Amino acid sequence: MSRLYEAHAYDAAHWPASHWRAAGPLPPAGAGALHGGSRADAVIIGAGYAGLNAALELAEAHGMAVTLLEAAAPGWAASGRNAGFVCLGGTVLDSDAIAARTGAQGVRDWAAFAEAAIDRVAENLDRHGIDARQGPQGELCLAHDAGFWARMQRAALPAGARLLPPAALREAGLAAPGFHGGVMLPAGFPVDPMAYAGGLARAALDAGVRLHSRSPVLAVEPAPGGWRVRCATGHVTAPRVLIATNGYGEDDLPPALAGRRLPVLTSILVTRPLGMAERAAQGWTSHAMAYDSRRLLHYFRLLPCGRFLFGMRGGLSAGPAGFERARRRVRAHFEALFPAWAGVETETIWSGLACATASGAPFAAAIPGHPGLFAAFGWHGNGVAAASEAGRRVARAMAGAPHGLPELLRALPPRFPLPALRRLWLALAYARYGLADGPLRTAGMVDSRGRGR
Ligand SMILES: Cc1cc2nc3c(=O)[nH]c(=O)nc-3n(C[C@H](O)[C@H](O)[C@H](O)COP(=O)(O)OP(=O)(O)OC[C@H]3O[C@@H](n4cnc5c(N)ncnc54)[C@H](O)[C@@H]3O)c2cc1C
Repeated sequence: MSRLYEAHAYDAAHWPASHWRAAGPLPPAGAGALHGGSRADAVIIGAGYAGLNAALELAEAHGMAVTLLEAAAPGWAASGRNAGFVCLGGTVLDSDAIAARTGAQGVRDWAAFAEAAIDRVAENLDRHGIDARQGPQGELCLAHDAGFWARMQRAALPAGARLLPPAALREAGLAAPGFHGGVMLPAGFPVDPMAYAGGLARAALDAGVRLHSRSPVLAVEPAPGGWRVRCATGHVTAPRVLIATNGYGEDDLPPALAGRRLPVLTSILVTRPLGMAERAAQGWTSHAMAYDSRRLLHYFRLLPCGRFLFGMRGGLSAGPAGFERARRRVRAHFEALFPAWAGVETETIWSGLACATASGAPFAAAIPGHPGLFAAFGWHGNGVAAASEAGRRVARAMAGAPHGLPELLRALPPRFPLPALRRLWLALAYARYGLADGPLRTAGMVDSRGRGR
């Protein structure tokens, strides 16, 4: 088995301090480590949003006996560390690129899927009584340069979207000096990601799912009646297995997936609570979700408790030294974009792994040539909604029911060229994106590649 980053990133004993961990209870862990041998109708590997939604669907809607095996605990990985943007997304492909692969119908199917994914999260919250909503409907995209702002003004906007020139941004409490204007998109809403994961885990347990935390799967092997899923102290045999390990899975578990996933680091800081005067001084008083138009984008929002959440992608090392560099970079970019808060302390800062693919699209379907073996991964840093809905739909495919998985999700992404060099490819991509994004004008503090002061 192999993994791309330093062991520290995958160490289940290390659960980084985060705002979400401090803010509420951890998700229920279910039973402890798997012991002995058993059978199930389905085994799911990974208790993030994809795995939890799939488990719920199979147990609730299809009456199956489901075993959910999790290396650490539900929500330990990206699903408990993210920024909580329930938003459109999951692919880096634009409509033209999707059309070239799947035709006009494929574009419509993907768009409908992305909308349904947001509704899915809302429905999960309502149906399972999960108290995780954190702010208003909509997502703001801010233009980081004049050219992008010009393009925004020329573009055909989706229904319900609003163009916000700088004066309108100020009036809406969404002012930051580095931005030239923005578009408020109507879809999406923010959540507490850990509370969402916890609510899903509780619902799965209530639905009869056998959840084993601290049960890293070591192998998935063909066996009479399907697949034997093996942990250190036990195994489960089932006709259907879903690999839902996304950026945290071993690269070659199973070998059919080796080289097809690129885990990508992304980091978030959360400040101490901001007073009303501090918020007014910056001009940012809204609780709307926002991101900027850079390739290496920043994402941010004011939390209900008054703390400010600020995140960005980047970084090539997940060891302690790499984390320290990420910490300095995120902090420097935060101070550059929100200069009035340059003196506001960081309360917590953490990193996690999202997952990209060489096709630029996620995957959720049966793995070709492996009857009964399914996988769901590659949300490109936008998986709160997409992984939730894809988990539901891939579970229907596992049950042999009509699934509605769009064609874009059903094509297994190719292996990266020379997969062992994926971090090098990522370094080159970051350098290219940094050049395209241009310098971060910061009163002379950092540039877009994140060199410190
Ligand atoms: C810092 C950060 C911020 C983000 N912000 C946003 C955001 O605001 N909005 C958005 O849409 N997306 C965001 N994302 C991405 C989003 O969090 C993910 O796309 C989503 O959570 C993926 O869910 P998942 O279930 O596929 O994977 P994960 O949540 O990563 O879960 C995979 C699980 O598999 C388990 N696992 C791995 N290997 C094994 C094994 N061998 N045996 C058993 N279990 C195993 C892991 O322990 C883990 O619990 C962010 C990601 C990060 C890291």
